[in-house]
Amino acid sequence: MLLLPRLLLPHRLLAVAGAGAGAALPGRLSCRRTPASTMSSSAAARHPLRGVVFDMDGTLTVPVIDFPAMYREVLGGDEAYAAARAAGGGAVDILHCIESWGPDEQRRAYEVIARFEKDGLDRLQIMPGASQLCGFLDSKQIRRGLITRNVKTAVDLFHQRFGMIFSPALSREFRPYKPDPAPLLHICSTWNIPPNEVVMVGDSLKDDIVCGKRAGAFTCLLDETGRYGPHESLSEDVRPDFKVSSLSEVLSVLEDHFNLAPVVSESRI
Ligand SMILES: [Mg+2]
Repeated sequence: MLLLPRLLLPHRLLAVAGAGAGAALPGRLSCRRTPASTMSSSAAARHPLRGVVFDMDGTLTVPVIDFPAMYREVLGGDEAYAAARAAGGGAVDILHCIESWGPDEQRRAYEVIARFEKDGLDRLQIMPGASQLCGFLDSKQIRRGLITRNVKTAVDLFHQRFGMIFSPALSREFRPYKPDPAPLLHICSTWNIPPNEVVMVGDSLKDDIVCGKRAGAFTCLLDETGRYGPHESLSEDVRPDFKVSSLSEVLSVLEDHFNLAPVVSESRI
C-alpha cells in the first residue's frame, strides 16, 4: 500500500492542551485550548482519525526506570555520561551509543539495561487514565498500537497486567526502532491506514515525537511534569501538534480536534 505523506492542509491543527489562554472545557478536568485551536476545531475542519499509537514506558505505564543511572552504568561513569549527553544535545540514545561497540562490551551493556528494565517491570504500574482512554478508543472503533524501545517480554507483561491488547505492539526486536519512522509506518501499513490519520502519543520528544513527525502522523507529547517547558519554546523540527500533561487530556484532544467516526473511503476498500 502506498503511504501518503502527511497533508499540510490549511486547517492543520496546532494546539496545546493543558496550556494557553483558552477557557476550561466544560465537564473536563484541566484541558485548555489555545484560541487558534478553538477556531479550527469546527466539525467541518476536523481531520479524520482512525488509529492511535502509544509509547509504553512513561506513557502507558508510570515511569519507574532510572534512565540516568542506567546510562551512567552502561557508559562507565559520570564523565562518559556527560560526554554522551553533550554529543546528543542534552539527550542520550543509549541503544544507538552501544551499536558500534564490540560484542563483549555490547553484551555487558545489554545486561545492565536488562537489569534496569527488569527492576522497572517489578514495579510496573499502569498510567492513570490509560484504561479510560482505551475504553474510549474502543467505543469509537479507533485502533490502538504500541511502539517501545523496551523488550518484548516487557510488552507481554504489560499486556498481562493491563488486560487490554495493543496491536501491533512493536518492541525493540523490531528494527530500526524509534525515532526511526519505520515501526510507525509498519503499523499504519498493517492497519491499512495512512499515517496522517494516526496520532503518535508518547513522553519522549526525541523518540516518540520525532518518530511520529517523520512518519507523517499527528503527534501528542505527554509531559506530566512540565519538563519540556512551554509548547512554543520547542524547536519546530520536534514540536508536537499537541502537548498534554495527562492521558485524560489526550481523550479531550481526540474528541475536540478530530473526526472520530470517519467513513472509510472507497479507495481503501
Ligand atoms: Mg517513554
